[in-house]
Amino acid sequence: MQRKISLLAVLMALLGMQLLVPTAALPAYASLPLFTRVIAIDPGHGGPDPGATRGDLLEKDIVLDLGLELRDLLQGTGAITYLTRDTDTDLADQNPQVSGGRKRKDILRRVDLVNEWQPDAVLSLHVNAIGSSRWRGAQVFYQADNPASEELANTIQAALAKVLKNTNRMPKPGDYRILTDSQVPAVLIEVGFISNPEEAALLANADYRSKIVWAIYLGLYNWLAASCR
Ligand SMILES: [Zn+2]
Repeated sequence: MQRKISLLAVLMALLGMQLLVPTAALPAYASLPLFTRVIAIDPGHGGPDPGATRGDLLEKDIVLDLGLELRDLLQGTGAITYLTRDTDTDLADQNPQVSGGRKRKDILRRVDLVNEWQPDAVLSLHVNAIGSSRWRGAQVFYQADNPASEELANTIQAALAKVLKNTNRMPKPGDYRILTDSQVPAVLIEVGFISNPEEAALLANADYRSKIVWAIYLGLYNWLAASCR
């Protein structure tokens, strides 16, 4: 009997402590916007598809490097991340049942993956190229019929402008499969123009790539923080 009373007293004391300190009992990370958020990163191209190129500088290598660094940064601050690829390969061979060419198989596999993962956001990473060498600067595309995607594009575009100081572009709706066919908020980020000589040199630079990663992270963070309010 004596023992039962002691146990009860201990239980009541524990319960009392919980009731007295409800906020102090919350872990510090409860207010961090990225904690347990699921983010899919989609480095474009890969394997036999180099994407845009300039000499030895290949879009597929740049965006894989950005994707891996972004993954590490997100995981380090509590997010759960998925990558559509983490090596130099495309996804066409994972989709043999789909008709059509290699590019179509690759893109549709990426769409299937993000719809399977159902992340809070999809970040598709690309490098721009155009016939004229004069254009430069990052450009973010969003899903035309998805306000959350548009808002994410706004926060990432703003962060890219602030960190890289290379653009006053505004986000645009994009007609890309990873945007039109994703069931969750998705954006496609063209981080710069490989067709512009100065920007190509920057895209080849590790420090500049880290700045791009930081800007994308900051934009995503601001979007998640706004939706937490
Ligand atoms: Zn691309």
